[in-house]
Amino acid sequence: MTLTRDQNLRYARQVLLPEVGGAGQEKLLATRALVVGAGGLGSPVLLYLVAAGVGQITIADDDTVAISNLQRQILYDTGTVGLPKASSAEARLDALNPEVKITALQARVTSENVAALVAEADVVVDCLDNFGSRFTLSDACVAAGKPMISAAIQGFAGQLAVFDPAHGGPCYRCFNPAPPPRSAHARPCEETGILGVVAGLVGTAQALAVVKFILGLGDDADGFVTLFDGLAGTTRRVRLARDPACPCCGAKN
Ligand SMILES: [Zn+2]
Repeated sequence: MTLTRDQNLRYARQVLLPEVGGAGQEKLLATRALVVGAGGLGSPVLLYLVAAGVGQITIADDDTVAISNLQRQILYDTGTVGLPKASSAEARLDALNPEVKITALQARVTSENVAALVAEADVVVDCLDNFGSRFTLSDACVAAGKPMISAAIQGFAGQLAVFDPAHGGPCYRCFNPAPPPRSAHARPCEETGILGVVAGLVGTAQALAVVKFILGLGDDADGFVTLFDGLAGTTRRVRLARDPACPCCGAKN
């Protein structure tokens, strides 16, 4: 596959980078991504992946746009309130880059549908806002040998990690073995609050991690979690080792 004239124009600024080049752009165009959750994290993730030319993207989200989403979910506008997020996102993203093949599923990821969704993806992007679905998605990714790039946000804080146990890295359960009991750390943002720009910051960092993963750049997949503190203005990267006793990817499984 060689880039067309239009592709060379659209992606010119990133193709200029020696770390990307024409070969890297072709990799992006050939990649199939599954983005689960089209909310505060999914908005910047989808906008940047589509702008960068990630070739095929499936969006899974069962929610509809609410007015209280617009403070952070920048894919949507006042005119889309009440409409399904998946199809609204598809329309917005199609206008941004019609070359990307978007599949919009108005569906929640469940134990029934997750294996089929993950099987069709080269890279899985976890933009979920609840632990239950995140564990379902993570376990399916480990079973299928697919990488999962995961982020979470709360208040002024966020975290981000690339999980690729098929290539020696940790899985999500190495980091978080089981869903936590309902606590201050496990409550959804409609109860605890979130600053919109923090969702934008962490989601944009997540999009960068996806692009780097596709291009084979950096060492994120070797096992790190990045912790963002928007109030302090700091970012910390902490080593995250694979757990040999992990209930999902450990030696006993
Ligand atoms: Zn594990």
